[in-house]
Amino acid sequence: MQVLRLLRGGNALDMVVEAVTAMEIDGSYDAGKGSVLNLYGEVEQDAGVMWGGKDLSVGAVASVKHVVNTIRLARLVMEKTDHVLITGDGAEELAKQFGLWVPSTELINETKINRYKSLIRNLRSRYEKNTDLARKLGLLGTVGAVALDRDGNLAAATSTGGTILKWPGRVGDSPIPGAGYWAENGVCAVSATGIGEFIIRAMASFRVAMLIKGGVGINDAVRQVVNYVTSLFGPGNIGLIAIDGSGNVASAFNTEVMGGRAWSREGMDKVVVAHFPDDPFP
Ligand code: ASP
Repeated sequence: MQVLRLLRGGNALDMVVEAVTAMEIDGSYDAGKGSVLNLYGEVEQDAGVMWGGKDLSVGAVASVKHVVNTIRLARLVMEKTDHVLITGDGAEELAKQFGLWVPSTELINETKINRYKSLIRNLRSRYEKNTDLARKLGLLGTVGAVALDRDGNLAAATSTGGTILKWPGRVGDSPIPGAGYWAENGVCAVSATGIGEFIIRAMASFRVAMLIKGGVGINDAVRQVVNYVTSLFGPGNIGLIAIDGSGNVASAFNTEVMGGRAWSREGMDKVVVAHFPDDPFP
């Protein structure tokens, strides 16, 4: 697997982008090929990547309809433009110029359309609170990765189709640095999943970094932020994975559906998967 090859001396940015790319192509997650549909029955993806090196480089895209490898598009924003976040048509144009644009038939299949039709039929109102809907229907698998390389560089990446039946143009936490991801050398890299509206308001990923900067250990830091979000908004809305500058890995979440995590280190020949909340990690 490409990600394992990269663990033998690769750089953190490549690792997180390749790990997320693999999950976008897989189709089982709410990202890339598996992205859920919005209120108009369209795919609209958000993604962001951050490299914690000397200038805190960030690249992000939002409301992207015709890309499978959305995290690669976010990386292009970081590396080929001097912007941080590009949305909609501008992001699609960048995708065209770099060969990432695909027709929507690559992203929307019959199963998704049938699910959409049955959900939309039962929707009480088109203005029903999307955060309530997301809780009711379940969050379906935003993907994220964090990594530390031999040179001490930290990187984080997050990619999502967002919340199901979201209002067209709605942007969640996943492309917002500090909310859906953060990476800062010597401190930590974090990736978040859950209900974006709450994660943005809590600036969850940045909050983890600030706690670690203040001397809190990584396990306590992720747990404290999840507890903080729970105290504000209730349970069932956030999951975090994180790695610190010494390579310690941690995760915390306030709902069982966010229990799927995996980790590996240089020298290991496999990725260890934790499927359930109580599975050891790492
Ligand atoms: N955080 C994503 C969003 O709100 C959804 C998710 O993580 O499942 O767009």
